Amino acid sequence: MAQQPLAPKSGSPVKLHNFDPEYHGDLNKKDARETEAHLEARLAELQEMLYAQGKYTLLIVLQAMDAGGKDGTIKHVFDSVNPQGVRVTSFKAPTAEELSHDFLWRVHQHTPPKGYIGIFNRSHYEDVLVVRVNKLVPPEIWKERYDHINNFERLLADSGTRILKFFLHISKEEQKERFEERLARPDKHWKFSTGDLPVREQWDEYMDAYEAVLTRCNTDYAPWHIVPSNKKWYRNFIISKTIVETLESMNLAYPDPEQGLDKVVIPD
Ligand code: AMP
Ligand code: MG
Repeated sequence: MAQQPLAPKSGSPVKLHNFDPEYHGDLNKKDARETEAHLEARLAELQEMLYAQGKYTLLIVLQAMDAGGKDGTIKHVFDSVNPQGVRVTSFKAPTAEELSHDFLWRVHQHTPPKGYIGIFNRSHYEDVLVVRVNKLVPPEIWKERYDHINNFERLLADSGTRILKFFLHISKEEQKERFEERLARPDKHWKFSTGDLPVREQWDEYMDAYEAVLTRCNTDYAPWHIVPSNKKWYRNFIISKTIVETLESMNLAYPDPEQGLDKVVIPD
């Protein structure tokens, strides 16, 4: 497929059939892996500066169908980063307590503080994805959530948080192969749930729900990236590159040192 945008223009309607999950530009696996190693090293440096400066925040939102690579992305892209500066939150089906509040209540508690990179493995978007597809709340409720999400993300952005949202786009065939691989390997069985199969049957409904998300919640202050993810090496490369470029643009710097450090003598 010809060149395709990584980040669709804010406000333009997204049709996922225009985005090829196999796409890898003119890159090959070897070059992508090599470049990614450099990017990861740079990511580690930038993260240290973010932490030392303690002024800004980066929030990364990962959404995908099952086996789309959310866990793999976290494992690979962040393996050089100091774990102390990163907070990963995985959102599961809400508890009774969480359900007794508005849908953003549980999410807001996990937004990362200044100096940190926060990673959301699933997110508030589940409340317009699984909730919409499985009719867990009436349409008049979920339909209002796109605006609530945009306002919430605006609040975070206005408070010094850069937001990057990644949709890991795989094909239905690729999901089948990944499920089969999980079934074939005893050490991967724990990642397989028969409960994922009814979700696979709703593939088209999920794609419709994702298109609504990618169209209605793609703002300048919290842009979506549609990451072609059938090839794990391309996915990791694109996500590392996007995160590094974003951090590079954030005016990060080490804080000014105390005065007179050049005269300090450490006593014996
Ligand atoms: P996993 O990421 O495979 O551990 O699965 C987590 C499960 O929690 C998925 O089936 C999600 O669809 C589900 N989940 C996450 N957030 C919500 C939500 N707000 N409402 C309902 N189900 C959710
Ligand atoms: Mg799963």
